[in-house]
Amino acid sequence: DNKLKSIAAQNYYVHFNENAYSAINNSLETNRYSKIFILVDEQTHEYCLPTFMSNIVGEYDFEIIEIESGEIYKNIETATQVWLALSELNADRKSLLINLGGGVVTDLGGFIASTYQRGIHFINVPTTLLSMVDASIGGKTGIDLGVIKNQIGVINTPEMVLIDTSFLQTLPREQMRSGLAEMLKHGLIQDEQYWKKMTHLNQLNEEILDELIYHSVIIKNKVVTQDPTEKNLRKTLNFGHTLGHAIESYFLQSDEKKMLLHGEAIAIGMILAAYLSSEVTGFPVEQRDEIKEVLHSFYDSVFFEPNDIEAIIALLKYDKKNTHGNINFVLLETIGNPIIDITVSNELIYSAFEYYNS
Ligand code: NAD
Ligand code: ZN
Repeated sequence: DNKLKSIAAQNYYVHFNENAYSAINNSLETNRYSKIFILVDEQTHEYCLPTFMSNIVGEYDFEIIEIESGEIYKNIETATQVWLALSELNADRKSLLINLGGGVVTDLGGFIASTYQRGIHFINVPTTLLSMVDASIGGKTGIDLGVIKNQIGVINTPEMVLIDTSFLQTLPREQMRSGLAEMLKHGLIQDEQYWKKMTHLNQLNEEILDELIYHSVIIKNKVVTQDPTEKNLRKTLNFGHTLGHAIESYFLQSDEKKMLLHGEAIAIGMILAAYLSSEVTGFPVEQRDEIKEVLHSFYDSVFFEPNDIEAIIALLKYDKKNTHGNINFVLLETIGNPIIDITVSNELIYSAFEYYNS
């Protein structure tokens, strides 16, 4: 049948659509939480909370905590506000935090739940495409430190992840595109067939999208369950993210440049990584050019001046894959076959930006 099934993750399940609400209703009934907190931002408060609440069957003691939306609020100040709110509202160790939102809410909320009174249960209910296929899965939680992405955080798994794809109906187009980047990445690092399917996608009808989301969760989950602490295989999920995160940080700190969404920055990072791959691993140039062409068809291009490139390279020193002062890249040997821990020279990185600009 066409129903999306539940997927077994590390020590929890990812439940889709109808399954999602029966799973949470069962869990709330059996766990008897002292209080249930729902973390939202302005948008998910308005667009997602009513649907979510209407699917909860029992009577429980709910408290809503709202944060401001946007990457710039994924920081220690917001975390402090939420810790204080939990404390003032008498959250105890038997309380539950439900993170209803995009990657900012699930990353921040997961971190808050993992640290509040040394850890309370949390459930992720992703409402953006990006958080459904990526951010809500795999147990990475955290916040940014200044512009440095995800510098502070812990790995800790949720009780469950609930994916209700109907939330995507109100998601702005550019946010859909942002999530698409991680799905394309999943194809590039694990599954050439899936990449092909994604690239031929000109119209996102609901049924196809649901299936693509399901497949993407399978890929992400397969990688993280095999290597939860990122010793090797999990690093491949950072394809496009070494330069992508630096680009994201660079645009985040700039006053005159328009901010890039995570996925937009990662799309650029993947073109750059495809170029580096072709120079270092013998990655076929036809595949390199195909990646560039496909990503350019989805995303606006940005022009990088030499001083932009210099500043971005300077930001690479904060990458979490760095070891002993080396900057480690994930590159491709072919589509579907990544290779990790490759260092490249700054000259080559400059050439990659020239390739991107051309
Ligand atoms: P986001 O949470 O900021 O959401 C994007 C925007 O969409 C926000 O303005 C939000 O209010 C709005 N929104 C959310 N759901 C909506 C809905 N259903 N309808 C209308 N508007 C809605 O950003 P994101 O792209 O979901 O996540 C990006 C974050 O995820 C980044 O901080 C990134 O570092 C993180 N991330 C984490 C992991 C991980 O493994 N933990 C993986 C990938 C990305
Ligand atoms: Zn990402």
